[in-house]
Amino acid sequence: MAIDNNIVFLNGEFVPMSEAKISPLDRGFLFGDGIYEVVPSYGGQLVGFALHIERMQNGLNAIGIKLEMGVDDWRDIAIKLMESSGKGNLGLYFHVSRGADTKRFHAYPEHVQPTVFAYAFEIPAATTADKQGVKQYKVTSTEDLRWKRCQIKSTSLLGNVMHFQQGQDVGVQETILFNQHKELTEASACNVFMVKNNVVITPPLDNQILPGITRHMLLDILRKDGSFQVQERALNMTEVRDADELWLTSSSKEIAPVVELDGQPVGNGKVGDIWQKAQSLYSANKYLY
Ligand code: PLP
Repeated sequence: MAIDNNIVFLNGEFVPMSEAKISPLDRGFLFGDGIYEVVPSYGGQLVGFALHIERMQNGLNAIGIKLEMGVDDWRDIAIKLMESSGKGNLGLYFHVSRGADTKRFHAYPEHVQPTVFAYAFEIPAATTADKQGVKQYKVTSTEDLRWKRCQIKSTSLLGNVMHFQQGQDVGVQETILFNQHKELTEASACNVFMVKNNVVITPPLDNQILPGITRHMLLDILRKDGSFQVQERALNMTEVRDADELWLTSSSKEIAPVVELDGQPVGNGKVGDIWQKAQSLYSANKYLY
């Protein structure tokens, strides 16, 4: 699928990527002043669409960007982009910046139209609950040095990018983060879950983590299923290092098993049974959201 120069949505129009032009004075470019979303879709079926749009609206409200677009407007854009991309496994990227002012000045400008951009990009096929076939993650860990407003899905991602790169630099695929009290927050681009003695545990929602849609759906699915006790609570570094299983969750990964943390095996170093059950339940229920 050639989607490099596919049709993208920019400020009300669908144009080829090469013709989509944004002002260098756009505050998204100058300040990272914007909100974004990534919604997964498989064969034209969107996952968690309304939840993603609700989170984006919360972000826009938090930073005072007024945009007259509702979930149906976004869905129309998503459908057009999926059609023009040939409906494979796609991430729908939605981005709203505060727009382009006539000067570079920190204060929120008045009377500036937000810039609205959306495009579709290929993502891997949906994860399946296959212990042998699933991609196994090795991760490193470090102190979370991002800002204190991680609940906002801001386009200012430099803190996350730098943490992600720390993993790349030591040859692993993610970096999990601990706050200054050595409590788990999340990973640079995912939420984190752990399992101990058949209990599934993840840090609570607050300003230290993104309220992940996959996290939300997984917690709901596990609670409705009832096979495992589920807890949202602070997790210290010692507990995490002693976990039976560790998972990363995100829209494009779904539930990804972590087998190594800082060079040490997680649990027995193999993909866990509870991961398999959780991913299987997630696969069976994700289109209901
Ligand atoms: N945490 C961070 C920092 C992220 O960037 C992401 C996804 O991009 C997530 C968590 C997972 O969120 P979601 O499940 O909504 O994709």
